[in-house]
Amino acid sequence: MATRHLIIGAGPAGINAIETLRAIDSDCEIALICDEPAYARMVLPYYLEGKIEERAVMTGDEAWFSERGVTTHLGVRVTAVDPGSNQVVLDDGARLGYDRLLVATGSRAARPPIDGLDGSGIVNLWTLADAKHFLAEPRPHTVIVGAGFIAFTILDAIAERSDRVTILEIEDRVLPNMLDAESSALMADHLKQAGIEVCTGARLEGIEQLAGKRRLRLSGGSDLECDAVVIAAGVAPNVEFLESSGIELGEGRGAGVLVDEKLQTSAGGVYAAGDVAEAADLLTGERRVHAVQPTAVDHGRVAAANMAGADVRYAGSLIMNILATQGLEACSFGDWQGAGRETTVVENPANRIYRKYTWDGDALVGGILVGPSAALSGVNDVGMLKGLIQTGVRVGLWKAYLEENPLDLRRVYVATGAAQKLLESNLLTGRASVGRGFRFPPLPALRKRSSHHDILLSGRAP
Ligand SMILES: Cc1cc2nc3c(=O)[nH]c(=O)nc-3n(C[C@H](O)[C@H](O)[C@H](O)COP(=O)(O)OP(=O)(O)OC[C@H]3O[C@@H](n4cnc5c(N)ncnc54)[C@H](O)[C@@H]3O)c2cc1C
Repeated sequence: MATRHLIIGAGPAGINAIETLRAIDSDCEIALICDEPAYARMVLPYYLEGKIEERAVMTGDEAWFSERGVTTHLGVRVTAVDPGSNQVVLDDGARLGYDRLLVATGSRAARPPIDGLDGSGIVNLWTLADAKHFLAEPRPHTVIVGAGFIAFTILDAIAERSDRVTILEIEDRVLPNMLDAESSALMADHLKQAGIEVCTGARLEGIEQLAGKRRLRLSGGSDLECDAVVIAAGVAPNVEFLESSGIELGEGRGAGVLVDEKLQTSAGGVYAAGDVAEAADLLTGERRVHAVQPTAVDHGRVAAANMAGADVRYAGSLIMNILATQGLEACSFGDWQGAGRETTVVENPANRIYRKYTWDGDALVGGILVGPSAALSGVNDVGMLKGLIQTGVRVGLWKAYLEENPLDLRRVYVATGAAQKLLESNLLTGRASVGRGFRFPPLPALRKRSSHHDILLSGRAP
């Protein structure tokens, strides 16, 4: 009898799991439950900025699912999981059975304990519905509460629609979980030059509604009036529906579903992937929620391969944050803080350039890059730094070279064969690229693939 796979969540983790399951097993049954349509939150900033249409946000429609033999239950919530009877309970009380279950329910915007958070004009920009709601009204002065990664990904879109933008951050610097003090100061200075108001060390205590406006009460007694408030104060994994399941969760605020190296939870046959999963970190081996899209994609594929009967061990994901705002790019990887480690730092605030590499002997284990795009992604340095850290390649004598020439990652990357090692570490060797074709179905291949392309797709070394 065909194995019944049930997936909860149609985000990147769920969609990649579906593609992997179908690529491995053409006969299995696949059912998908999600309270939203299938789309990628990560591209919402481009939609908010008007750079892409709504259909480019979507990652699958009924035709796409039906071609892959997926039964969909969209607009439906799972309220409980019962691993004892291999069933999930839906919000209308119905039950669905499974042989293998994937929990890919992602995370949501956290709600800080602030009075008046439910009033009108106070939004998250987390879902497609949030984005549409935000676009529906003019927002002359918008206050963003939180100066973390998500706030920075939507900052340009907000600045596009608002004459005045203020960022409030409770910590003493912007991007406190991504940049060190020096690079954070550089970023804050850049934003101020671009006309964004940045208030660090600012604790929001309450929000009052006032004749169509919002009045924000800050600690210390000062007030701030504005038209809209965007809450971007962290994320919380969607695990509540698992409370009675007995499935083991992590501890503390922001805890996710604990998974092993095959991304299986404490319940046999139940797997978890993406923002909801607390899985191994590549460098430390400790289980963490990373809440970024590349991790969700990797998790979805590895979990699905194991659900389909393969034996794939997950080495862990590299923590990374990459963003661009107001013309400045910033990224950090791995142990970017580098406490107690040897570091190489180069800084030119006038040109908005900052680089920090953290070392474990002659291997890079973390880093921060800040700079104009021509100096970063324009020369592929973001990808090369990521590759050097992800592969753990020992750079040997090239360490001294990089210390002397910190802006020249390229030579180190090529000379140490990091690209080759990345290919070898391809997660599901040979199953890396399943033809997606959702967004651009009518486009034929422009030309015949070269042999280099085949190597990339097969995951084999040349
Ligand atoms: C504005 C924004 C910008 C971002 N930018 C970046 C970026 O630049 N780079 C990056 O790496 N990451 C970015 N992210 C984060 C990235 O989008 C997430 O890491 C990714 O979406 C996680 O994928 P997922 O499949 O785990 O979960 P999700 O995408 O959250 O999908 C989970 C789905 O499950 C549904 N669900 C939850 N509970 C239930 C239930 N009980 N029953 C049924 N359905 C349920 C949810 O509503 C959701 O539709 C961004 C996120 C946002 C909001």
